Amino acid sequence: MQRLADRPLAPSSLNRQALSGVADVVLAQIETWITAPAKGGGGWSEVKPCLLLRVITQSGTEGWGEAFVLPCREKAVAEIIHALGQATASLQSASPWAFRAMALEIASKHRGLDFSAATSALEMALWDIHAKLAEKPLCDLLGGDHRTPLPIYANIWSDTQWDVGSLAIRAFDLVTQGYTAVKIHPMLNHSAPQAVDVVRHVRDAIGDEMHLMVDMDSQDDPELSLFVAERIEEYRPYWFEEPVDGQDIAALSRLRKTTRIRIVTGEKNCGLPHFRSVLAADGADILNPDIAGMGGILDMLELAEMAHRQDVRISPHCWNSMTVAAAAMLHVCAAIPNAEMAEIYPEYIEPGTGYATTGFRVDGTHAHLSGRPGLGVEIDTGALRKLSEHFQSSRPTAG
Ligand SMILES: [Mg+2]
Repeated sequence: MQRLADRPLAPSSLNRQALSGVADVVLAQIETWITAPAKGGGGWSEVKPCLLLRVITQSGTEGWGEAFVLPCREKAVAEIIHALGQATASLQSASPWAFRAMALEIASKHRGLDFSAATSALEMALWDIHAKLAEKPLCDLLGGDHRTPLPIYANIWSDTQWDVGSLAIRAFDLVTQGYTAVKIHPMLNHSAPQAVDVVRHVRDAIGDEMHLMVDMDSQDDPELSLFVAERIEEYRPYWFEEPVDGQDIAALSRLRKTTRIRIVTGEKNCGLPHFRSVLAADGADILNPDIAGMGGILDMLELAEMAHRQDVRISPHCWNSMTVAAAAMLHVCAAIPNAEMAEIYPEYIEPGTGYATTGFRVDGTHAHLSGRPGLGVEIDTGALRKLSEHFQSSRPTAG
């Protein structure tokens, strides 16, 4: 039987030969930081803790990664990262392919989102290192072009008890700032009939020209999502996200047959087998696995190619810092043929500027990569340390 690492990688655009002249990468040190929560967007929402990772090789090259973390799991994911880092240090050449094969073997087919977040972070850092050694922006190494303007949208999530008026004002503010696509979460703190009213109000506030995405935040009852979908079609939502839990593929498939609005799913799911099942069931128009939770960039590329064959698009989820993970998301979007608008959290941009130069800029409608090698992100570790006083961990990978 062929080992995974020996099989040709699906994405035909990925020039694996581009890494052939690059020196072997052997890990020497791994550091993790979990940033403290902060208020963002003028108090509109809380900026959650983010888990950042730096890998340093024996020859001194550093690579940055980030893991998608949900509440209460941040330190657990950091521990998985350090344990995987020890294992990765045993690789004579830690290519993304070798790392993926090793991680899959360790997982023993029990990946789960938190393990996949850890592998995503480490693999992201390895890509950063390899692209730096190749002296190319990551997307160029992956077969894309860093000069490609990348369409984006603004996510208007909030942990506050917002009412429809304040949500409409927030959406209008973002449009005034130049964003041309916004995503709302009308079911948060609201009933289904109220959610319909919320969509109508926001559409009125932003006008007919803007794209409006509706995120249902994983409802338990598919009928409830169907109730909303049928009543908001007239407000022309661009997509209908997570109408049910991503695991409920049968319900996704039924909903997709029933509504004309594009169905989006995948943000809390990981691993290619899950997404293969969603595609087989015609359960989505757009897949949105988290860029730092799917399992790795190789999985994202392979999924993109698989989805492209079915005319399904990819919009990587990015509920992460708008620094390392967001840069990785944009590099992937620049390298795949079926990228949808990429996810931007406006409230997270300003806190990131306190410790990072992100390597991209956002002009409202698009993101533009800088062209710097690797992910293009530069981190002020002193500033990051101050933001992460409650958790930081630095460990050698050997000895
Ligand atoms: Mg969502």
